[in-house]
Amino acid sequence: MQERYASIIIDISHEKLDRTFQYRIPEALIPDVSLGCIVEIPFGKGNRIRRGYVVDISAYTSYDKNKIKEIDRVVRKERTRTSEAIWMELAAWMKENYGSTMIQALKVVLPFHKNITKKHEKRIRLLLTKGEINERLAEFAAKKQRARERLCRLLIEEDGIACQDAIKNHKITAQTIQYFLQQGIIEIGEKQIYRNPPMEAEGAVKSFSLNARQKEAVQIITGNYNRNIQKVYLLHGVTGSGKTEVYLEVIAHVIKGGRQAIVLLPEIALTYQTVNRFYHRFGNRVSVVHSRMSQGEKYDQFERAKKGEIDIVIGPRSALFTPFPNIGIIIMDEEHEASFKSEQMPKYHARDVAIKLAELNNASVILGSATPSINSYYLAVNQEYQLLTLPNRAADNPLPHVTVVDMREELKKGNRSIFSDDLRTKIIDRLHKKEQIMLFLNRRGYAGFISCRSCGFVMKCPHCDVSLCIHNDGKLVCHYCGYETSTVTHCPSCHSKAISGFKAGTQQVEELMKKEFPEAGILRMDMDSTKGKHGYANILSSFSKGEADILIGTQMIVKGHDFPRVTLVGIIAADLSLYANDYRACERTFQLLTQAAGRAGRDKLPGEVIIQTYSPDNYSIQAAARQDYASFYEQEIKFRSVAGYPPVAHLLCILFTSKEEEKAAVKSLEFVNIIKSREIKNLYVIGPCDAYITKVKDVFRKVIYVKHTDNQRLVQIKDYLESYMDQASISQSVYIQFDFDPITMI
Ligand code: ADP
Ligand code: ZN
Ligand code: ZN
Repeated sequence: MQERYASIIIDISHEKLDRTFQYRIPEALIPDVSLGCIVEIPFGKGNRIRRGYVVDISAYTSYDKNKIKEIDRVVRKERTRTSEAIWMELAAWMKENYGSTMIQALKVVLPFHKNITKKHEKRIRLLLTKGEINERLAEFAAKKQRARERLCRLLIEEDGIACQDAIKNHKITAQTIQYFLQQGIIEIGEKQIYRNPPMEAEGAVKSFSLNARQKEAVQIITGNYNRNIQKVYLLHGVTGSGKTEVYLEVIAHVIKGGRQAIVLLPEIALTYQTVNRFYHRFGNRVSVVHSRMSQGEKYDQFERAKKGEIDIVIGPRSALFTPFPNIGIIIMDEEHEASFKSEQMPKYHARDVAIKLAELNNASVILGSATPSINSYYLAVNQEYQLLTLPNRAADNPLPHVTVVDMREELKKGNRSIFSDDLRTKIIDRLHKKEQIMLFLNRRGYAGFISCRSCGFVMKCPHCDVSLCIHNDGKLVCHYCGYETSTVTHCPSCHSKAISGFKAGTQQVEELMKKEFPEAGILRMDMDSTKGKHGYANILSSFSKGEADILIGTQMIVKGHDFPRVTLVGIIAADLSLYANDYRACERTFQLLTQAAGRAGRDKLPGEVIIQTYSPDNYSIQAAARQDYASFYEQEIKFRSVAGYPPVAHLLCILFTSKEEEKAAVKSLEFVNIIKSREIKNLYVIGPCDAYITKVKDVFRKVIYVKHTDNQRLVQIKDYLESYMDQASISQSVYIQFDFDPITMI
């Protein structure tokens, strides 16, 4: 029998992760030792028995085989798992299912780096009376002792100040502080502070009782919860149907039972409005984490969670790893959002990790969306998730009225502008009525596809049913199969010369608007205008206060904002996302259009939506216009089954990167041959071919796609390739990454 060696970490604190110790696994224990399991080992000079976690198992060791120590015993699974064991198991699961190292997975699960210390803040307190300090101030001013004068003023103005703040922001030296101490003007106290003290709830929040559908959803979830039936729920509620209220009720129930809640929101939807509703309901038992926080700030929130000072954490995908003692529910709002997928190793999807984490904690999961991912809806249809539906808007205001405008007809009429006559007329009307307008420019997937402005024809790959991409050398390329053709000057369908890449940015739209409606107040929100920490909050709050009539933006504006005075939403070029070279193009288009349309008529004033498109017959546009999720799903799932895409089949993308193109090419071809030699039935291997982005910073990229209906088959292939990499001790000059069911095609 082949020897087996386990790499073990003694302590799972983050600093120790890179220190593993190898032990031989005695033959009798081989079947029992698995990744993440707890073992007892003789450790150090005295061979004291200590516990450790297995983070890697290999047939090789670089130690002297005669000197290496052996694992003593495997600690059986304990009846109640410690939270450490849960995180270990989760990391092992991520390693296995996403193809990373155990250490990479642990670094995600235990997301803190070295050097994070608890922050003890030194604070300066004034010991003098007002009169006394004013006297000293006058004295220092007279002597022109500016620093001392500054410190006096600070002490007068503020009730205690942090030393760091004084030194950093007010240019006060340690000597000055020392002098004040000697003089008995101040004292310095120390207290542990948290870097992000909880925000206070602000303003009033309407209170109301839940409507019947909301109540029903809450009762189903809490009823099951009480009977300890833990499930994954898909809460499908149209825009404005009151999903957030359902979350709040369920969370209140879970907290009452002594357990905690994690709420995941895409970063862009982590708006003040949403977060504020949580503060109103739960006060300082809520904490928010987000990507603009420093590591230290996040660490503090996690510490508070560990100590039981908070019950709820709201944040983007990393909030999943909040070390609560007893998670009862995990909520993922806007579950269809692509940002829940990590683009770094391990390339995990927060949805799947949330479900696994819930399973380990015996907790439930709620996935919420107005436009569920095809993936989740498919699982709900197949009874893996329980589907709950909120078909109407909560306040009983109707969904907006939607008109689809065929831009090809506009061109025929001689209207060459990017605004249809209909949209222009309605804009004038709203400006006149002093109501607000949002213009949404769909730029997603704006990757240089070629379309005909006259008939709407799009250049597609004859083999793959995805649009071709134009490359700098003028060639049109399919990034799925590598098919190439030269670019065209006339439309193959109608022979018009108006075939080209579509060009329009938010900035151009803004300029055109200013020309046509010089009296209107216009705000623009895109990557450029939102630079800076508060850039985009400022734009939104200004629009919300009615300081402008029109807000122009990209997909950034479709999320999570309630603007009661918006009665018209114009969607310019709805098609742009349709022809992204990606099997999810229609899904994204439907989601974007439905969500954008959902911004109109959120309050008392009825809303209206204009969708401008060159492909009015496309089912995703038609279904979005009717806000008809079910019929969109029907069509889309047919396409996925015929074409063999997720969720019907699964896709593993293997990315090879190297500074030397030849090496990446050779290695990827070698892998294709290895995979094919396994002769797995119904397995499709595509490639190797150039990745969508063929070169990044002089590093070449090649990809292989492997397709199978059973995801476990793909996991096995990944395992096999890993063991092969192990044996062949793959040259360090080619890096290999795995990506299961990639969100974007690379
Ligand atoms: P969703 O998250 O489904 O888009 P929200 O939870 O944001 O919807 O609710 C949309 C709006 O409806 C909010 O302004 C909310 O205050 C309001 N609302 C929610 N539930 C009710 C209800 N039962 N009665 C009246 N208004 C409600
Ligand atoms: Zn192709
Ligand atoms: Zn044409």
